[in-house]
Amino acid sequence: MIAVAGQIAGAAYIVAALLFILSLAGLSKHETSRRGVTFGIIGMAIALIATVVLVAAGAWDTPSGALGLTLLVVAVLIGAAIGLWRARIVQMTGMPELIALLHSFVGLAAVLVGWNGALSDTGLTGALADIHHAEVFIGVFIGGVTFTGSIVAFLKLSARISSKPLMLPGKNALNLGALALFLVLTVWYVITPELWLLVAVTLLALALGWHLVASIGGGDMPVVVSMLNSYSGWAAAAAGFLLNNDLLIVTGALVGSSGAYLSYIMCKAMNRSFLSVIAGGFGIAAPRTDGDQAHGEHREIDAEAAADLLAGASTVVITPGYGMAVAQAQHGVADLVAKLRERGVDVRFGIHPVAGRLPGHMNVLLAEAKVPYDIVLEMDEINDDLSGVDVVLVIGANDTVNPAAAEDPSSPIAGMPVLRVWEADNVIVFKRSMASGYAGVPNPLFSRDNAQMLFGDAKEKVDEILFQLTRV
Ligand code: NDP
Repeated sequence: MIAVAGQIAGAAYIVAALLFILSLAGLSKHETSRRGVTFGIIGMAIALIATVVLVAAGAWDTPSGALGLTLLVVAVLIGAAIGLWRARIVQMTGMPELIALLHSFVGLAAVLVGWNGALSDTGLTGALADIHHAEVFIGVFIGGVTFTGSIVAFLKLSARISSKPLMLPGKNALNLGALALFLVLTVWYVITPELWLLVAVTLLALALGWHLVASIGGGDMPVVVSMLNSYSGWAAAAAGFLLNNDLLIVTGALVGSSGAYLSYIMCKAMNRSFLSVIAGGFGIAAPRTDGDQAHGEHREIDAEAAADLLAGASTVVITPGYGMAVAQAQHGVADLVAKLRERGVDVRFGIHPVAGRLPGHMNVLLAEAKVPYDIVLEMDEINDDLSGVDVVLVIGANDTVNPAAAEDPSSPIAGMPVLRVWEADNVIVFKRSMASGYAGVPNPLFSRDNAQMLFGDAKEKVDEILFQLTRV
């Protein structure tokens, strides 16, 4: 019975693994992303059913028969109900923090699986026992780092704690010291697998995960999210080795390597050092001033004057950011674009790769508001044109249009590519206050001669401009 169930599950696992690969391939392009998600859902359903079959057949050292099955089904139903509920109510601006929280579960699961592996009697001896002990230790370490790292990412992304980097004295030495200690403890544990060593590595990993992510500034958070995605994959793979589950190993390795590659691509696009980010902001300086107070004089504009400026413009570029998502201003922005285009104004969008709080955030919002796709351009496609533009509307964006990134080598976001909106003839910045953006860095754009602040909720201000345009 167990042998037959094992063969069926083995075949099902291969199909599920292939579907996961197809899913990743599908998710790499807009046009095939829906198909990619469908492949992923089918693959996961097959994997879950195959695992239930294995448990029902008593293939693992689980409570046998009806009890084991009941426990498993109840756990799956509770998890599925919570997952469905959260997925239905989550706002798009809340997606990154939800993802960070989900990563923390993978990390916690890897820690628990590791501890379970250490406490259960495997009957292994010699080299096999040594390998098992190394697997336990490494699994607990990766899981612990992922768990607290993801919790800190969740707290930062949901603004429950500041997004500014924690700058403990000697932070780089602390991180490197923790890694060196982990290596020593691993060797020690393989030689003498005493429980206190496992307690020590668990505490070490929890502290390191917390410190690594706490040390990273807001500007690098997009990379941190994909890096934790990668860590969660490796944590799952480590759990797969301990549970002797091939699918978990394959899936974990897929998530781990694709997450690592995504982090690398994002670092390149953001001109950040990959090693510096994964080493907890190695070599990155702390912000020097309080972001909310470091501006010079700024000028203000009202909706009426903004409408006049737009009515007289022949080229307009809109650079949306996180604030547009918060205000849900995309529909008003789409109406504004339609109205300006009716008047013969050439309107385009410039989208920064990390605008908002998740990759592609602005593109999704604009597509939802039915903004024509051909006028939505990537940062690299529009940046060289900005100097000839009459008016740029910066709608709820801040870090992604900060000139300090391009002009101030001592800025914490120095070197990060940004939309060079300050090169346009006129810039109107829609926001509610002089507060800094997510990275907590002052924005000198606000005091430029060609920039004017339009204070208030972005949706209300866009609606007011629309109303004023009917008058002009
Ligand atoms: P920022 O987060 O830098 O700034 C958003 C601005 O919107 C704020 O300055 C805020 O100012 C304003 N705002 C907020 N609510 C409203 C509202 N209702 N109406 C008008 N304005 C509003 O946004 P960007 O998009 O420019 O930059 C994204 C930042 O997020 C980057 O630092 C990026 O690294 C980080 N990040 C991005 C992720 C991604 O994958 N895209 C993931 C994680 C982090 P005020 O409060 O004064 O209104």
